[in-house]
Amino acid sequence: MNVHDSERMAGLLETEGYVPVETVPEAAARATEAGDGGADIVVINTCSVRENASNRLFGNLGQLAQVKRERPDMQIAVGGCLAQQMREKVVERAPWVDVVFGTHNIDVLPALLRRAEHNRKAAVEIEESLKVFPSTLPTKRESVYSAWVSISVGCNNTCTFCIVPHLRGKERDRRPGEILAEVEAVVAQGAVEVTLLGQNVNSYGVSFGERGAFADLLRAVGRVEGLERVRFTSPHPAAFSDDVIEAMAQTPTVMPSLHMPLQSGSDRVLRMMRRSYRRAKFEGILERVREAIPDAAITTDIIVGFPGETEEDFQQTLEVVENSRFSSAFTFLYSPRPGTPAADMEDQVPHDVMQDRYERLVALQERITTEDSKKFEGREVEVLIAEDGGRKDEARNRVSGRARDNRLVHLALPDGVQYGRELRPGDMVRAAVTHAAPHHLVADSGVQGGLFEIIPTRAGQVWHERQDNPDMANRVSLGIPLLR
Ligand code: SF4
Repeated sequence: MNVHDSERMAGLLETEGYVPVETVPEAAARATEAGDGGADIVVINTCSVRENASNRLFGNLGQLAQVKRERPDMQIAVGGCLAQQMREKVVERAPWVDVVFGTHNIDVLPALLRRAEHNRKAAVEIEESLKVFPSTLPTKRESVYSAWVSISVGCNNTCTFCIVPHLRGKERDRRPGEILAEVEAVVAQGAVEVTLLGQNVNSYGVSFGERGAFADLLRAVGRVEGLERVRFTSPHPAAFSDDVIEAMAQTPTVMPSLHMPLQSGSDRVLRMMRRSYRRAKFEGILERVREAIPDAAITTDIIVGFPGETEEDFQQTLEVVENSRFSSAFTFLYSPRPGTPAADMEDQVPHDVMQDRYERLVALQERITTEDSKKFEGREVEVLIAEDGGRKDEARNRVSGRARDNRLVHLALPDGVQYGRELRPGDMVRAAVTHAAPHHLVADSGVQGGLFEIIPTRAGQVWHERQDNPDMANRVSLGIPLLR
């Protein structure tokens, strides 16, 4: 959600005539180690889901203070969840910040920058609720081949460890027609993959009173001509219904991957977390997903050491993890978020106990992830090639991408195939897995005389055209107007 919001901030600024600093070599040349990039405007989009967000923000701001002393006209803006939470306190702690804006008013960023410049004084503006749905704002999309599309913002749940409802507000759903219009627009610009975004996609439709709206939406998005891969994040087990499983299984473009947060395997802890499903319901969903989509890769989130969690509760989490065979899991040590009910609960679990449980859980999941990954050796995968394989890839003449089930795959390129020429980001490759590591697959069949088939895509073509035409590369899509 935050990454997509950053795309909107960039889109808004570029619509106002600002350009990315990388395109101005004389500005980029004055970049310092503070992370300013040499830019005239630095926007920090904060997230408070992970611990230490504020330490990191003020650490970054501390480094930027020196740059600001040397270049007083440079402007620093702070947005996102932490800004929404801290408001004026950001400027009290870092008086060299020019603009503070929240999660509900991204649209005012350019105006606040102008106001701060004119008044020579920090401009702080936070809204309590959403005035403009973010998708109506211009967007500078990072990727040619893959696009985020918001279907809702906010959340009506009240999980006791989570600050999101407080910072993002109640759930607001976009109408299906608007979502489809945006999907069609991004596909027309070259995207072959779309990820539908919402804090809780399964409750999509509550605000306009349509049950089953998410399943219908999946089917409708899946039918958009030219779209090859549909993903979504995040579902919530409580509202997960069988019609969604059916829609996933029956829509060939909906990818066989599901990220569904478990958080805890103990019903007692789930109750304390105010997560309104129980272990049996979670396990039942998994069973039905596996029955309908046997090759689905299922991943999850788990919190260890929630206040009051006993060893017995934790054993139940281990049991669910053992039975569920997740492809991978994001595991977190519980840490209190100020302002959430769980932060004030008695019975906080001592750190060493938490750490010990965490290590046991990670060891178990690593074993399962490794076993799960091993199944792929020798199998064929279809990989959507990513934009940047990183230095490691370059040294080994490999490229990277994602398989249909979202696994990371590295591939070696056979002679005569060059990245950016014969094979472009956004194209697809069919290859065979030659080695399965726990968290990635290697599909070097192309250099071992085996399968290596390039499937050129429109996304690859658009990527290629953008290389020759910088104006296209910087294109900002206008916001999608509301349909009434
Ligand atoms: S479902 Fe729970 S964890 Fe997820 S955003 Fe809503 S309150 Fe937070």
